[in-house]
Amino acid sequence: MKKWSRRMSDCIFCKIAAKEIPATIVYEDGDVLVFMDIGPIIKGHALVIPKKHYDPVTQTPDDVLAKLHLVAKRIAQAQMNALGADGVNIMQNNGTAAGQEVPHIHIHVIPRFSDDGHHWNWNAKKYDDFDEMAELAGKLRKHL
Ligand code: 5GP
Ligand code: ZN
Repeated sequence: MKKWSRRMSDCIFCKIAAKEIPATIVYEDGDVLVFMDIGPIIKGHALVIPKKHYDPVTQTPDDVLAKLHLVAKRIAQAQMNALGADGVNIMQNNGTAAGQEVPHIHIHVIPRFSDDGHHWNWNAKKYDDFDEMAELAGKLRKHL
């Protein structure tokens, strides 16, 4: 992959990784940066990004993805230990259809408190019948 494709000049998270625009940094190593989300779902919400530009998840190398998730796990533990979180949501959006706003892969690590009052709009649907569900599963299996 060419070098330029790892750094997008108009990408806000590349600019944060390059320290060209400020962010409140929680953790940093050679490959990964963690900073506070400017619009937290719950206060303490952090974003885990690779310093190099990758997007979406399906185009992100496995080793990079593994590192991101291992760091996300550490952030989750810190949210429980340091902030007293009772739970943590770890989320990762891909594509505008999925609600992604910044097209540089990032993992949301969101501390949750029993009394935080937040409810995801998790509106579970139903399949028409078992065959419909099985057909979709079959399509997926063929592409693995
Ligand atoms: P997405 O919808 O792409 O999964 O999430 C993007 C997240 O990035 C949002 O939660 C948003 O608040 C956060 N965000 C967008 N721009 C900035 C920024 O300039 N600084 C910080 N710290 N967070 C940002
Ligand atoms: Zn980027």
